Amino acid sequence: MTDGYVRELAADSRAGAGRPRVPVELVPDAAVVLGISVTPTSLLAVTMLIDGTIVGTQTLTFDPSSSVLAQFTDVIGRQRAELAHPERVVAVGISVSGAVDQALSTVRISTTLNWQDFNLGAGLQRAVNLPVFVSNDLFAQSTREVSFGLGRNKDDFLLLGLGYGVGLGIVNRRRVFFGAGGSSTEFGHMSVDPNGPLCVCGNNGCLQVYAGLDEVLASAPGPGGPQSLAGLQQAVAGGDAELSGFLDGIGYRLGRSVGGVVNLLGIGTVIVAGQTTSLWQELSGGFNRGLGETVLKFLLPLDITVKAWTESEDAVGAAGLALHNAISLNVPLADRAGIVVSALSDAEPHPVH
Ligand SMILES: [Zn+2]
Repeated sequence: MTDGYVRELAADSRAGAGRPRVPVELVPDAAVVLGISVTPTSLLAVTMLIDGTIVGTQTLTFDPSSSVLAQFTDVIGRQRAELAHPERVVAVGISVSGAVDQALSTVRISTTLNWQDFNLGAGLQRAVNLPVFVSNDLFAQSTREVSFGLGRNKDDFLLLGLGYGVGLGIVNRRRVFFGAGGSSTEFGHMSVDPNGPLCVCGNNGCLQVYAGLDEVLASAPGPGGPQSLAGLQQAVAGGDAELSGFLDGIGYRLGRSVGGVVNLLGIGTVIVAGQTTSLWQELSGGFNRGLGETVLKFLLPLDITVKAWTESEDAVGAAGLALHNAISLNVPLADRAGIVVSALSDAEPHPVH
């Protein structure tokens, strides 16, 4: 109430003992956050009110190899310019695919963007004069889900992200597990077959080489070369049995791997998200079979929810992270991602290759 996020309504006039009850309500536009998701070709930005309403979305083309800060500053300026009260923007969240040090808002490595040890948060905070929180896409989404989404009534859950990367967000006692150095997300590089194909990470038989979306599209059976996600959906709908068997096998590998994590952590609630969930009908049979063969019986039944994917999911996750970090009261200050000065580059990213 001191910060103006909540206002009092008329007092409850019904007579009773003690102080009259005073109802309150959220002031949705008292504060605004921006969320930006980054791909190798685009920046997708959303503007979010504190009740989670999205009031503005835009997509700009993006070149991750040069003038990175200027491009971010531009998209932030455009989002603010559309607001009646641009001064109410309290924070910016950025969602990046890759390993991100949450505490430093530094991208440790992003192979998709070709960035390494890039302190995007500090550089951008100076440029736009707002708190900037940079996060791995799955961590941002996990934070949003536990604060405002499917996980808001759950203390513990796993968020399985199925897209170009394969990741697993771990929420324990309502806190996202970041790992030492703040970059624990590489579930996709769990080894599932020592004789499997070579992974981009240099090891063999990672889950990623089977279940990453590019890898699924490249190795799916069918006429011609690599397929599109829409093409696969169409073939599945048309009753392509070979393709169904292929996808069932991917679901099975995912299920067995998630089953191991369920046993390890004792967390039996799983939220499944990401582009590849559009094939979930074909993946789920194998996934459940894989879980059934691995999960300890006393942990059953599991609670599995599949979240429909939308284009702006990562940007909304980034906005949710910014909102959580900027105004949430239930997180100890020491645990909030923040910006500290570091010796890392914050002007331009170092290329990985
Ligand atoms: Zn790997």
